[in-house]
Amino acid sequence: MHRKGINVNNVQPEDILCDYCEQSAWSLGEPCIEGHQGSIVCGTCLTLAFTDIVINGHGDLVDLKCRMCLEVREQTSWRSKNDPEATICLRCIKQSATALEKSKHWEWSRPTGG
Ligand SMILES: [Zn+2]
Ligand SMILES: [Zn+2]
Repeated sequence: MHRKGINVNNVQPEDILCDYCEQSAWSLGEPCIEGHQGSIVCGTCLTLAFTDIVINGHGDLVDLKCRMCLEVREQTSWRSKNDPEATICLRCIKQSATALEKSKHWEWSRPTGG
C-alpha cells in the first residue's frame, strides 16, 4: 500500500508499505512482492503466512477480498495480526513465494518448517 497523503507524482521508497505489517519493506531493503493496485507483501509476512497456512495448515476461510489479488476466494487465507481485514489467499501466498524465490534481487526462500 502507499502511505496516506503522499505525493503520487514523487513516490519515495519509504512511501511503499507492506499491506500486512505496514513496514516500509522497500526502504528497509526487505524483499517484497507487488500485488494488484499497489498492494505489497514483504518477505517477513510471506514467511509467516507460508508457515501458518501452507506448512501448518492453519488459516480461515474468509469472505474478505485478498489484498493481493482483490478477489474473494474459497480458500484458506492468512490474516495480518496488524489488521484483521488484511488477508492473503493461499494462491497468492504460493505465487508470491515462487516469485520471490525466482527474483534475482532477493535472497529469499520459502520456509520448510521444523
Ligand atoms: Zn509485511
Ligand atoms: Zn489472493
